Amino acid sequence: MVSGASLLTHGKPELDTYDAVAEFNRNDQGNLNDNTFQHTESVPYPAYRVKYDVDKIYDIPGVGESYEDCGRIFKIWLCENCGHKQPIKNSCDRAICPECWRTWATKEGKRVVERIKGFIKAYKDCKGKRIGNPKHIIFSPPQEEAKELVSEEGGVDKLRKKAIAIIKGAGIRGGLVIFHPYRIKWEYLEALGAIGKERKVGFWELVRQDALELGNWHEYVNLSPHFHVIGFGNLAKSNEVYDKTGWVYKFKRHIDKEKDVFGLVFYLLSHTAIREGKRAETWFGSLSYNQLSKVKRVVTYDPKICPVCGAEMVVEFVLTGRREEQLVKHITWIYKIPPPPEAQRTL
Ligand SMILES: [Zn+2]
Ligand SMILES: [Zn+2]
Repeated sequence: MVSGASLLTHGKPELDTYDAVAEFNRNDQGNLNDNTFQHTESVPYPAYRVKYDVDKIYDIPGVGESYEDCGRIFKIWLCENCGHKQPIKNSCDRAICPECWRTWATKEGKRVVERIKGFIKAYKDCKGKRIGNPKHIIFSPPQEEAKELVSEEGGVDKLRKKAIAIIKGAGIRGGLVIFHPYRIKWEYLEALGAIGKERKVGFWELVRQDALELGNWHEYVNLSPHFHVIGFGNLAKSNEVYDKTGWVYKFKRHIDKEKDVFGLVFYLLSHTAIREGKRAETWFGSLSYNQLSKVKRVVTYDPKICPVCGAEMVVEFVLTGRREEQLVKHITWIYKIPPPPEAQRTL
């Protein structure tokens, strides 16, 4: 298992050894906290559902159809020293796929960690001092207005734009936002919690599994648009932000470990709205694509190490039993914060 690598270390990528599912389940327990924050509905649920029918407009990961080969195991990692085996599941890497959405979320999670680490390093190189650890914050818009907006074509993009302006105005100068359209309905939390404890499965996974046999995952959720932020900066007081904007924010915590950034992103992606052809995460401010640029690609090839005995593992093809050596490719980037334009420099 992985030690909690600090965000400021720049050793080999360690994410491959994370047990993504365990991380996910651990984080999913935090869902109740998400819900404690729910805005009061001013329109009774059935009425507004008839009005907009918006509870069913978004898909979350893992609720679609898989392809025939999804999840099949054609090869495994094998430790020839101690016999430890790890299946390599065939994956289509689509967010909608019930077999493969975890592979999608794992890849996205690694990308996020990579860019955040890159920013921390670039900041130090550029400014000569360390920036603190990123914060996890939830921003919720005034609900009735937001629900109407996100039920329109392109409405989420408008709401996201607004969210980013408000997040920046609240003092967060850069980071990423992930949109959540839904929260789990209050009336099912207790029953789901009890099943989850027994099966050691998180809330959203139980929703996907239709654990209460309600017939469809949509039955478990209410439209309740909000944004999760992982970002850098000093937050203005919550009541001041609310008075000015009508948005409510809730500070969750500082994230000081690389694996915690990964675990959090994986969890947040597990119930984001799928955006066809677009990434679920949006970078803004000092971490946006035009303010933090990639300047150099670094590729390394590393052996896969057996988590039990530490030996190098090989790939074995299930059908033929043929074995071959294989290295794992890691791509990282060096990032650069553009220096301020000449004109703006003092001295
Ligand atoms: Zn698939
Ligand atoms: Zn081994």
